Amino acid sequence: MIHQRVRYDDCSNGALIFDPATGTNVNNGVLTVTTTENLNGMTWQNCGRIATNGARGIDRDYTMIVCPDVVNFGGAAAWGQMTGSISWYRSRYASAPIVQMHELGHNLGHSHSGKDGVTYKDPTCNMGNRGSWSDTGSNFCFNAAKTWANKWYEEYHVTVDPSSGSYDGTLVGINAVKEDNIAETGQDVVIKIDSSGETDLYIIYNRETGANNEVPQNGDQVVIVAQSTGGSTSSWRAALSEGQVYTQGGWSGNGNLIVKVCSLETGTPGSARVLVYATGQETLSCDSSPVSAPVNAPVSAPINAPVNVPVNAPANAPVSQPTQNDPCKDNSLDFLFRNKIERNCEWIGKNSKRIDARCQDPAAADNCPDTCNTPGCSAPVNAPVNAPVNAPVSAPVSQPTQDDPCQDSSSTFMFRNKIERNCEWIGRNSERIDVRCQDPAAADNCPVTCSICA
Ligand SMILES: [Zn+2]
Repeated sequence: MIHQRVRYDDCSNGALIFDPATGTNVNNGVLTVTTTENLNGMTWQNCGRIATNGARGIDRDYTMIVCPDVVNFGGAAAWGQMTGSISWYRSRYASAPIVQMHELGHNLGHSHSGKDGVTYKDPTCNMGNRGSWSDTGSNFCFNAAKTWANKWYEEYHVTVDPSSGSYDGTLVGINAVKEDNIAETGQDVVIKIDSSGETDLYIIYNRETGANNEVPQNGDQVVIVAQSTGGSTSSWRAALSEGQVYTQGGWSGNGNLIVKVCSLETGTPGSARVLVYATGQETLSCDSSPVSAPVNAPVSAPINAPVNVPVNAPANAPVSQPTQNDPCKDNSLDFLFRNKIERNCEWIGKNSKRIDARCQDPAAADNCPDTCNTPGCSAPVNAPVNAPVNAPVSAPVSQPTQDDPCQDSSSTFMFRNKIERNCEWIGRNSERIDVRCQDPAAADNCPVTCSICA
């Protein structure tokens, strides 16, 4: 069975490996928590609370919580804190590698990967959902913006500002690094196009091999995505084959931005020669051959050493340490609990039976998001760069029965337990959709028609 540990290891070239946690009753990273509470219809947040209370004392960096299917996931297959350490899975989808990759991707600080204004539609990235939901077809990684943010290939990042410079070089896929096939110089994995006033663009050669050999679409093309800041949703812009050009007008006041693929080859490792320039700044041509080294050595060496060295060292070191900037981390100081008594997070969490009650106080929830397991801690600036040491691998037992919960089933199913219907029927009369989608079978089989994809 394929799961995220294998996939992250592959996609990161060994930089990010989630090791199974160990501890009392932990079996291969998995702890089973039992409860006498009625889980039927319970929110995923409350299911998560039960799970994390049961996992107290187990040392871990990331927690993947699998809740029974009867828990209310609000129409989603799973949720993940962004940025954070907790993800929640509806049992029937918990085994899908793409779901695990996606939710842990949120933990790492990624938003979704969209296309044409549709969230999740980017078919080149685990932060979309266009991949297979079974093991087969799950072997692919992340788009250019997310690859840049992951920093696993940082050595081979290059930034271009076409309003003052240009790029004529060769992109290789992430496979080239793993295969140790990347050239010492002149080859890159990700280009970031960064000009004042423009949304950043990112480019990769989406090589369909190795860790990425089952990428749903645009394999072996040069793919461009836009993303404004590290944690925002990316937007697929273009997939280029050999000879094709991406043009974006009015680039930072420097004419048209041009991204041109001069050549593509899929050998070992495979590479793509790419030009990036703004027409108001300069024009590059595929006919020139700047990839090869200059023929002539420079004639003269510089004659003069620089005259001036900088006189003043910076006078002041920064005065204050950054204050706590991780909203998912407990405050280490005392705070006013119930507006009348000084308490701290240790006290809040001292008695596991009281956590729920104490965390009702907003001051407790605000100051102790970790102890209170506050869902949806919002994104701090930096995604974790280091591989976490322990995490449950959580290879849940059951396969999802349906490949993609955001895709309507094409076959018929029992509607209201008594009549064979299909999604076309459910959606035929727009005024009836709401009523028909009340039937769980309709909602499960026709999540698109019933608008419950999340
Ligand atoms: Zn998501």
